[in-house]
Amino acid sequence: MYTLFLALVFVVASQAFAAEWLLENAQIVDVDATAIRAGSLVVRDDRIVAVLAQSPASFDGPRRDLAGHWVIPGLYDLHTHAYGNPSPSGATHRLGIQNAARAMLYAGVTGFRDLFSEENAILELRDRQRAVTLPLPDEMWADIHAAGPIFTCSGGHGTEYGMFTRVINTPQQAHLEIAALAYKHPDVIKIVYDHAFARMPTLDRATLQAAIATAKGFQLRTVIHIGTWQDAEEAIQDGADAITHTYGEPIPEHLVRLMRARGTVYIPTLAVQSELLNILEQPALLARPLLTAMVPAGLLETYRRPDQFRPQTAFLLTWERDGRETFFHNFKTILDAGVTTLAGTDVGNIGTFQGYSLHRELELMVAHGATPWQALASATTLAGHFLQEEAGIRPGALANLVVLEASPVADIQNTTKIATVIYHGHVVDRLALQRKIQQGFPP
Ligand SMILES: [Zn+2]
Repeated sequence: MYTLFLALVFVVASQAFAAEWLLENAQIVDVDATAIRAGSLVVRDDRIVAVLAQSPASFDGPRRDLAGHWVIPGLYDLHTHAYGNPSPSGATHRLGIQNAARAMLYAGVTGFRDLFSEENAILELRDRQRAVTLPLPDEMWADIHAAGPIFTCSGGHGTEYGMFTRVINTPQQAHLEIAALAYKHPDVIKIVYDHAFARMPTLDRATLQAAIATAKGFQLRTVIHIGTWQDAEEAIQDGADAITHTYGEPIPEHLVRLMRARGTVYIPTLAVQSELLNILEQPALLARPLLTAMVPAGLLETYRRPDQFRPQTAFLLTWERDGRETFFHNFKTILDAGVTTLAGTDVGNIGTFQGYSLHRELELMVAHGATPWQALASATTLAGHFLQEEAGIRPGALANLVVLEASPVADIQNTTKIATVIYHGHVVDRLALQRKIQQGFPP
């Protein structure tokens, strides 16, 4: 029955969408070339098939005039937790994986990588999504890339949530647990190696080494949640492909050089590391149109009541206050050294919102030393490269595009001025998505 259903979807979808169509008279933001050029795009099925300097005189298919608009590649968020938007006072707007993916798409984030969710739920949903190459309107949510669980030790970071972890305390356990996950084909392996908080234990070095080596044996790349720079250095020496988070002490020069030499990818997560404090200092952030379009007003209101924050929130706030300036400084140091830096928000944590916060991550990058081009690359072409997808505006690339009302190079905040989202070659019904993602939070 299920196979039949999928086959039916495919036939209907291919009949409806097989023709070529044209996006014409756009300002094309070419992130590879760091240039904006007037031009037109021909889209067939889920791909860009041609990029033209001029609109063809004759074209046998629908046309969409984008005069006065800018087109960027679809955005990626490379560090997410697709379950919802928590409130600082405790309640959570529980979206679930599918609606979190819808929120992403609404915000122009056409693909994301989840680094800690229920493994069967997210990997099965991802497989179902990949089986349908030409999605029907109801099947439009951002492309899922997923780690599944996180690997951590007994009592280590991740276990406090009481779910979704795989515990590895010895090299042998690391081997067995990663092998057990590998047959479900996770897109990446996420490992916690964090000595920043004395109150929580972390993996011993031998277990970390075994985990990374086992992942490599299955051709799986590793993203390591680090606490200290020492953690990062050891993980990189042991073969980590990417590190995520930024420590609140100045990064040693030799480590920056090591990251550069080894080609380590860095996902700073500036949003999760500063945004609660940013919101408290600038409450106007809560009135940003893209945010209020996506998140129930009742949830946003809880950010205006620090007297009702939970103790965990107060702890987060102190950490942000103590570390923020150094986080930003480290980010700039690492970026300037030429280390591949990718946008990831760690959304799912307090201060962040599914889809919306990716735009804040880019804004924070630019506010702290990145050029708009670097920020755009971190969330488009470079991110796609790390995920082994064809991302960018060029023939053969996935037709995941965001049409903007203003230039993101003139002002990176303009990535939030979204006119249209195009997903796998189809115009997204953003109003339908909005109705779905606004549900489910008590007034
Ligand atoms: Zn995370």
